[in-house]
Amino acid sequence: MAIRKEDVRAIIFDLDRTLIKSSLGFDKALSKAANFLTQYFKRQGHSISGAKIYGTLRSIAKSFESQGLYDRDEWWIILLRKLGLSHLSGKWVHEVTMLYWRTYIAASPPYPDAENTLRTLRKRGYRLALVTDTDGTPGMKRKRVKALAFYDLFETVVVAGEDTPKIKPSKMPFTFVAKRLRLSPKKCVYVGDNPKVDVKGAKAVGMQTILVKRHGLKADRPTLVINSLSQLLRIFKGLDG
Ligand SMILES: [Mg+2]
Repeated sequence: MAIRKEDVRAIIFDLDRTLIKSSLGFDKALSKAANFLTQYFKRQGHSISGAKIYGTLRSIAKSFESQGLYDRDEWWIILLRKLGLSHLSGKWVHEVTMLYWRTYIAASPPYPDAENTLRTLRKRGYRLALVTDTDGTPGMKRKRVKALAFYDLFETVVVAGEDTPKIKPSKMPFTFVAKRLRLSPKKCVYVGDNPKVDVKGAKAVGMQTILVKRHGLKADRPTLVINSLSQLLRIFKGLDG
């Protein structure tokens, strides 16, 4: 099926792995947290290898991500439980979360074509918005979004799980963004990298969907698949064309 581009007034984006290269940030942030925890446990008299801690954290992160649970504090608490160190649990675990996010932000640059694509689409008259899930630490996602060089281009930003009770692929954040834009979802196209979370939810409210192929996941039938953001410029040439 082809995109009905003549219907499109707004182009709504996902953030992580769509506009910013956050898989790198995730790896670095997890290593940093693992190093911190290894040193901390050592100081408390528990010698556990960094590799074991990193490996355990990765599996915790993976299972949490598949369940849509994003609160990093929980990751470290579960790690403590798995290592039999629950007695060490305390308020300090939140410090690890903040260290994680600082590292994540510093190591998650925008894709090279993100800013130019967004600026050009805006110049061509398309309205732009962002729908992204909460980071689990309230306010953190909005802080990350505000730090983007192209933040000013978004007419509205919906942080699902904070602005709406449910996260993607619930219909809620997609219905909410269309309402904020005062547009029918039919006039919106949603661009994301995750076939399950992004394509499914947006499609369910009647938006057209474009999947940016960042990894080898099979798509839940988006309207279109692209390999890079700049391909959007070949599709959306202006509101009258
Ligand atoms: Mg994403």
